[in-house]
Amino acid sequence: MAAQRDLDLSRLLGGASAKKLKDHLGLATAGELLDYFPRRYAERGELTRIAELPIDTDVTLLARVVKATSRTMTTRKGRITEVVVSDGIDGALETMSLTFFNSFAAAKQLTPGTVAMFSGRVGAYRGRLQLTNPDYVLLDDDAADGASAEELANKPIPVYPATAKLPSWKVAQSAATLLGQLDLASLPDPLPSALRGKYRLPGLSDAYRMIHTPATAQEWAVARRRFQYEEALVLQTALARRKAQHAQLPSRPSPARRGGLLDAFDAQLPFTLTEGQREVGETLAAELALNHPMNRLLQGEVGSGKTVVALRAMLQVVDDGGQAALLAPTEVLAGQHYESIRRSLGKLAREGILGAADGVEVVLLTGSQSSGERNRSLLAAASGGAGIVVGTHALLSENVQFADLGLVVVDEQHRFGVEQRDALRAKSLATPHLLVMTATPIPRTVAMTVFGDLETSTLRELPAGRSPIATHVVGLLENPAWGRRIWARAREEVDAGRQVYVVCPAIGESGEDEGDLESLDEATWGGTALGPGEARKPAVSVGATVAQLAEEPALAGSSIGVLHGRLAGPEKTAAMEDFASGATDLLVATTVVEVGVDVPNATLMVILDADRFGIAQLHQLRGRVGRGGYPGTCLLVTSLEPGHPSRARLEAVAASTDGFVLAQKDLEQRREGDILGATQSGRRSTLRLLRVLRDAEVIERARADALEIVADDPGLERHGALRAAIDAYLEPEKEVFLERG
Ligand code: ADP
Ligand code: MG
Repeated sequence: MAAQRDLDLSRLLGGASAKKLKDHLGLATAGELLDYFPRRYAERGELTRIAELPIDTDVTLLARVVKATSRTMTTRKGRITEVVVSDGIDGALETMSLTFFNSFAAAKQLTPGTVAMFSGRVGAYRGRLQLTNPDYVLLDDDAADGASAEELANKPIPVYPATAKLPSWKVAQSAATLLGQLDLASLPDPLPSALRGKYRLPGLSDAYRMIHTPATAQEWAVARRRFQYEEALVLQTALARRKAQHAQLPSRPSPARRGGLLDAFDAQLPFTLTEGQREVGETLAAELALNHPMNRLLQGEVGSGKTVVALRAMLQVVDDGGQAALLAPTEVLAGQHYESIRRSLGKLAREGILGAADGVEVVLLTGSQSSGERNRSLLAAASGGAGIVVGTHALLSENVQFADLGLVVVDEQHRFGVEQRDALRAKSLATPHLLVMTATPIPRTVAMTVFGDLETSTLRELPAGRSPIATHVVGLLENPAWGRRIWARAREEVDAGRQVYVVCPAIGESGEDEGDLESLDEATWGGTALGPGEARKPAVSVGATVAQLAEEPALAGSSIGVLHGRLAGPEKTAAMEDFASGATDLLVATTVVEVGVDVPNATLMVILDADRFGIAQLHQLRGRVGRGGYPGTCLLVTSLEPGHPSRARLEAVAASTDGFVLAQKDLEQRREGDILGATQSGRRSTLRLLRVLRDAEVIERARADALEIVADDPGLERHGALRAAIDAYLEPEKEVFLERG
């Protein structure tokens, strides 16, 4: 028997309906329609608020006819029927006009007092909302199927995401027909019956019936609860299985060796490790010694000292004769890491002489290197001469080979997912240990969902001697004079021997390029700060700012550097080096400085058009200052009026330096799609019913259940339906979701 889910709708519903579902909603199989859930349920007697209908949008509304007139058209042949409907809300009747051309049915059926569901695209005509030739269905039609008046009164009306061409009730009809055609009882239920019993959830066939044709509001509510939990369980089991499978793979054990590079490095460290660094260090040391791969996420505030922790882990592997790779999200960062690792290794960093006995060779590998440099690095990686290879995603390309890769460290990267890990894994016989580092604090359930197959460690404290960063919102609209004051303030820092970052949202003078190709903003939760359809003047750009600062009297005589993602690699490196060495006083840059850039002498950060950035991003950015024992200042400059919703974000950042608090605030303000990255790729959001924050509890429960299932039945042999649901979930289109792990 062909799987019920795979049956073609054209065989079950008839060609015409099936074609519409296919053309307008992309639904072709029984399973796809079954899983196309109503977006909400209307109650009988409930009318749609007409005043809130969005214009130029396909809508489904319930309304009562208050007036209907028909007349012969003067300019054209035929009759026009004008129907005025109202929502009768608050007594203040909001009305809308519906115009039908040559519809005798409408003229006959839509008499005053009739309640009907209408569907069409909202337009405006003479200042009033209108629908032209809307599709409609009379609401007492259900009486035809013999339901009693009371049953009818309780029966919710499912409202499906629909289009003007395929109204909600036609989807509802098709779904109802489908339910009658299928042998629902034979659908395998992904939820184990024990769990169904534990949470009192309906079985699959009942749940489908209740979600598509609920007899009462309780029915759809319980069905929804079931599907939410099912979704959470499928996802968490997928992650748990992945984690378990992973744990079985062989890896290269690198037990710590006394008297090696790591000990020498520790002996020369200019500071003592924080308690957290020591603890995490011990965890990593123990896991690296195992012959199954470590898979760990290291969270820690900007400046909490993650890099030292990672470097110590790398040295442990090198001490054992293995290699470590450090992956950075941008070339600038890769260059910085390369420099700072060599700096902190000091004499332990060996120059590239093959066969030299002591020290470790560190090489850099990026896409923009000259072919000579690149070849030298490639050779050092492949021969095993280089113990530590620092690079960008170029490290993942096929022609990069390692002699004995034992550890991969991924810095500040949310986009390093399954595919990338597999690419790296292909580079060595054994699975390398993996350490992912992020400075964006992640609430527990998000971590569980997005990084569900990684163990998590957190550095909670900052190293001692870190100076607090004072953050101020500078509103130019109410304080135009501040526009100049900022630069006088910058001058004070420069005169004191300090340095200044100036961050702009755009690169070119045109302002059309929002953000920076190399920046992480689409990948982090920072995101763009502009609301949908929010048209604004072009963002302040690096180009325009450099030109302006060159003319700024307060800054006369100071040197200004430029850094953004569109510079060639060597130019970027030079700009960064000049700033790091103090040769430039001010660095005008895009968010390319957002992560990891470390210039301790920088004390002031001016963020222009700060309202264009997200909370997490602003927090990351300001972490660039106050790193060298001098107090740091961050100015969030905005020309939005006070009270503008986007300014609330700036106030939030100014009010707290606790990344965790801010991340939570940030999340509350954003939609799920942004968190999980599904919408960015233009694909449908992968989570259908679950909301990572709202449904934290469901997710936690599902995770615990999933871990138990996998511990008990690692291959999911006894959970065939669940396994099938996971496979369906992990179809290529949905992988974007797990990729972020
Ligand atoms: P993160 O990557 O977590 O933002 P880094 O590893 O770049 O932080 O560390 C920030 C700065 O703090 C670096 O200059 C580093 O040398 C320094 N640092 C790290 N650990 C300590 C410590 N325990 N005590 C003092 N300074 C430290
Ligand atoms: Mg860092």
